[in-house]
Amino acid sequence: MPLNNYPIPTLSLRWLYVDFNSYFASVEQQVRPELRSKPIAVVAVETDSTCAIAASYEAKAFGVKTGIMIHEAKRLCPGLICVLARHECYVAFHHRLIEEIERHIPVTAVCSIDEVACRLMDNEISVERSTEIAQSIKSGIAKNIGPYLRCSIGIAPNRYLAKVGTELQKPDGLVVLRAEDLPQKLFGLKLRDLPGVGANIEHRIQTAGIMDLPGLFALNPHQMRKVWGSVWGEKMWYLLRGMGIAGRDNRPAQRRPQPRHGAGTARSGQGQGCCAAPDAQSGQPPAAYGVLCGRHVVFGPAGK
Ligand SMILES: [Mg+2]
Repeated sequence: MPLNNYPIPTLSLRWLYVDFNSYFASVEQQVRPELRSKPIAVVAVETDSTCAIAASYEAKAFGVKTGIMIHEAKRLCPGLICVLARHECYVAFHHRLIEEIERHIPVTAVCSIDEVACRLMDNEISVERSTEIAQSIKSGIAKNIGPYLRCSIGIAPNRYLAKVGTELQKPDGLVVLRAEDLPQKLFGLKLRDLPGVGANIEHRIQTAGIMDLPGLFALNPHQMRKVWGSVWGEKMWYLLRGMGIAGRDNRPAQRRPQPRHGAGTARSGQGQGCCAAPDAQSGQPPAAYGVLCGRHVVFGPAGK
């Protein structure tokens, strides 16, 4: 089915997605200056027969990825430094990062320990205003938390594409996916770069003779459903074109008063007895730090 039979509608930018780069490894490099600019892998236990749960960008340059066995990682990168994971420290930074992001835009959903989604309001949907918010998030994090906590930010008509936008530029990315950029701006991605395409779905897509994003975009909704073997294929067809799934992305937009820069959310709370994130300037742990009350922290894969 020719692509031009399914024109992509004009849709405004509605979501801003923040994905921290090499999150666990970056926290370690922020807290421990001796690890900066070094290839490091974060591990759960100190043995070569475990896998890396995160890798710094210096390690990634050697081909060390999340999930790789440490004996293999050391073969690829002989100078690799293995660092024992400190989850309480990553959670402490998570709380501080969310608090910082909320100085610039309310967080709609915490998607994992290193990913959040924020809905743009009607007065934030221009490329200029949304990128201004994204830049202020980045500079706020660098100034108030630490320059080693870098993130990729995606801005798009729906939450799914905003997350895809974070895949397009790493580290420290900022990508705006306007409806008119679609689908060409996605063509450089691999099938597996798409959220929701794991090994099984990738195998199904390839078995159907589709090897890349242009091939996927050439399918119609019915064909997508058939390839996926479920309604999710059809949903993906809409999501990849910036359309939302009813009830989640399509809620009526509102307006927020502007500007919010530096306004802060004045949250305060007690620490939870874990490793407090150090102050960006002094490098010293603060006496107390803000904890988001009543927010459900979702633990998921990090450090990709
Ligand atoms: Mg990440």
